[in-house]
Amino acid sequence: MNLHEYQSKELFSQFGVPTPKGKVATTPDEAYQIAQEIGGTVVVKAQVLTGGRGKAGGVKLAKSADEAKARASEILGMKIKGLTVNKVLIDPGADIKQEIYLAVTNDRAARRPLLMASAAGGMDIEQVNRETPDKIIREHVNPFLGLREYQARNLAAGIQLPHELWTQFIQIASNLYKCFIANDCTLAEINPLVITGAGTLIALDGKVTLDDNALMRHPDLVPLRDTQAEPIEETQAREAGLNFIKLDGNIGCMVNGAGLAMTTMDITMDIAKKMGIEGGGPANFLDVGGGAKADKVATALRIILSDPKVKAILMNIFGGITRGDEVARGVIQAMNEVQINVPLVVRLAGTNAEEGRKIIEEANIPNLQSAATLYEAAQKAVLAAKG
Ligand code: GDP
Ligand code: MN
Repeated sequence: MNLHEYQSKELFSQFGVPTPKGKVATTPDEAYQIAQEIGGTVVVKAQVLTGGRGKAGGVKLAKSADEAKARASEILGMKIKGLTVNKVLIDPGADIKQEIYLAVTNDRAARRPLLMASAAGGMDIEQVNRETPDKIIREHVNPFLGLREYQARNLAAGIQLPHELWTQFIQIASNLYKCFIANDCTLAEINPLVITGAGTLIALDGKVTLDDNALMRHPDLVPLRDTQAEPIEETQAREAGLNFIKLDGNIGCMVNGAGLAMTTMDITMDIAKKMGIEGGGPANFLDVGGGAKADKVATALRIILSDPKVKAILMNIFGGITRGDEVARGVIQAMNEVQINVPLVVRLAGTNAEEGRKIIEEANIPNLQSAATLYEAAQKAVLAAKG
């Protein structure tokens, strides 16, 4: 789950990372009010869950409340990388001397948190990483010891930070790390962390990604999710207790178990490739979990079918406690509830798979086919999608 800039900076601030004291507006009039309260130059910033807002014209300076209102009315409603701007953050303007990059993330290969700093802040850090990777200084953290002061000093030295700023920098790095750990983040990024004309450090931008699997430990963070800013299907799926991720292919996949879902996707992709079908392959990852009851299957079908690219559906269910006959009846019932205008191929394995297949064949529904193996099912689905 990604947090907006204003939410990320609020979280940073709670952990003692200095941030501008701004407020969020949803209308130009509110922007005017806030700019008036702040006084002087402000910056109007689009709040969308993507980077590169500056380049896209979503970050604008305003010298007065009137200007702030004008900039806000331009930015609100604007589209940045396909996302509509519904909110703007009004921050006091900063006097920027230098922009630094500072972030904590997980290094999965090293199996520990990683702090990264760079003097080339403000710009696209992926680009810096590609073109001049040695401009990024890295420190792995032993999770049992936490961030040691010498490590923060190494970062400060590595980015050639003026010596008088080291104490502030070490404090910020240490607090950012605490914030990262305490909230189960997978990313806590400040880009830019700026050196102001007055010689202080302040986090002008913030990006936090929370680990969805740890959210149950942070009930206070759950409401920060902006459901307007994510694909509608993903919201519906989460509410129905389904694990769903939208992809680019043309075959909707409905599977129980994450590992089986990945296998299903791989085989489908492989077959589509071998047949030379362009755009062939999985349209989504979907784990319906245990049970595969009719109402869950119906919801999953609705979500899959809301994607116009879907030309066939492949259902792959391995029965353990879940019984094949029960799944088959569930599918037929779900097909009564949901209008399905694309072919649906069902592959059942495990407990009562035979019975399940029989039920599907005897139902004699034109759009519904059964297959005995995953390979056969994927082949049928790919062919059906091809039309
Ligand atoms: P991003 O483009 O989505 O990463 O948005 P940022 O919040 O990082 O803003 C982009 C750029 O706008 C920053 O790198 C700064 O150069 C500039 N910027 C942001 N806030 C201020 C501000 O208060 N004053 C000035 N002068 N520039 C700012
Ligand atoms: Mn930024």
